Amino acid sequence: MKILFYDTKNYDKESFQETLKTGAFPDITIEYTKSDLDPRTAALADGFDAVCAFVSSNVGTQTMEILHEKKISLILMRCAGFNNVDLETAAKYGIRVMRVPGYSPEAVAEHAMALALASNRRLYKAYNKVRENDFSLSGLMGFNFYEKTAGIIGTGKIGAAMCRICRGFGMKVIAYDVYQNESLKEFVEYVSLEQLLSDSDVISLHCPLMDSTYHMINIDTIKQMKDGVILVNTSRGALVKTDDLIEGIRMHKFAGVGLDVYEEETNNVFEDRSDEILEHSTTARLLSFPNVMITSHQGFFTREALGAIAATTLQNAADFVAGKDSPNDVKIG
Ligand code: NAD
Repeated sequence: MKILFYDTKNYDKESFQETLKTGAFPDITIEYTKSDLDPRTAALADGFDAVCAFVSSNVGTQTMEILHEKKISLILMRCAGFNNVDLETAAKYGIRVMRVPGYSPEAVAEHAMALALASNRRLYKAYNKVRENDFSLSGLMGFNFYEKTAGIIGTGKIGAAMCRICRGFGMKVIAYDVYQNESLKEFVEYVSLEQLLSDSDVISLHCPLMDSTYHMINIDTIKQMKDGVILVNTSRGALVKTDDLIEGIRMHKFAGVGLDVYEEETNNVFEDRSDEILEHSTTARLLSFPNVMITSHQGFFTREALGAIAATTLQNAADFVAGKDSPNDVKIG
C-alpha cells in the first residue's frame, strides 16, 4: 500500500519512519509532503492507495470528490477528531476513513500538572530572573499541593490520568462529570460543579467542547471559586470565556492560570501561528499578566504519543489491507 502523508512535520516523519523500521508493516510505503490536504492539493494523491491527514486538513466534499477520482480508497486520520471529514461523501464513494481515538492521555495530563506547578511556583519568572543574575525570591511564593484539593472537571481518559497524578501529589481529589468513572471511585469523590468550584485549590478542565460546556468557566463560575485558586485548561479554549477570565484575574481571583488552549485558536491548531496569536487581543491581553502561563497546544506532544499515533495509524492501514473491520473505523452517526 502506498500512502501519501499530508502536512508533514519533521517529527511526524521521524515517528512514522521509526515505526516502519520495526518491519511490522512490510507492505506499506509512505511518501511525505509538507502541503496540507485540501481541494488544491488532493490531486497529488494520484497513484497512491491512501492518504494520511490531520486535524488541520480539509477533507470536505470537494477534496473527497478529487480523492475518489484519483482512486483513493482509504483516508487515515492521524488524530482522534474527524469533524473536518465529509463522511457522507466518503461513504457514497466507498472510501474508508480510520482514526486514532486515543494515544496518550498521560501526555496531556502530565502537561496539565506541569502548567499547574509552573504557574504556582512562577517557574517562567524564576527562569528569567536567574538568567539575568537576579537570585532574589520576590514574586515567587507558591503553595504546597500536598493535602490541598484538586478539582477535575471531566474524568474521561485524560481527566482520569490527571486524577491519578494529583493523588500521587497527596492531594484530595474531587471531580465533576456527567458520567462517573468507576475506576476512580476508590480515591475520587464526585461532587456537584458548584461544590467543585468552591472547594478546589487547583481546577483542571478535561471535558470536551460541546454546547453544554461552551464558556462553562465564566464570571459566575469564577466568582464561585476560592480566592487564590489555580486554573488549568488543556482541553479546548472555548470552555473558558476569556473576557471573564481576564476580569477574574483583575479581581485577583487566581494564584495562577495555565492554558495550553485558548479561544482564538483556529481549527488549524498545529500550524505556525505566532503572528496570529499576537494579532488576537484576548490572548495578547492574557499574556500580559504575570500569573498566566500559556503554551501552544503542546499537551499531546510527547515521543510516546507520537509513537502511539504512528503505530495505530499504520495498524489501521494494515487492517485495511487485510480487509479487517476495526474499532478505529469512522462511520456516520
Ligand atoms: P474523553 O472523551 O475520554 O473524556 C471526556 C470526559 O468529559 C467524559 O468523561 C465525559 O463524560 C466528560 N464530559 C462530557 N460533558 C461534560 C460536562 N458537561 N461536564 C463535565 N464533564 C463532561 O476525552 P479525553 O481523551 O479525556 O479528552 C478530553 C479533552 O482533552 C478532549 O475533548 C480534547 O478537547 C482535549 N485534548 C487536548 C489535547 C492537547 O494537546 N492539549 C490533546 C488531546 C485532547
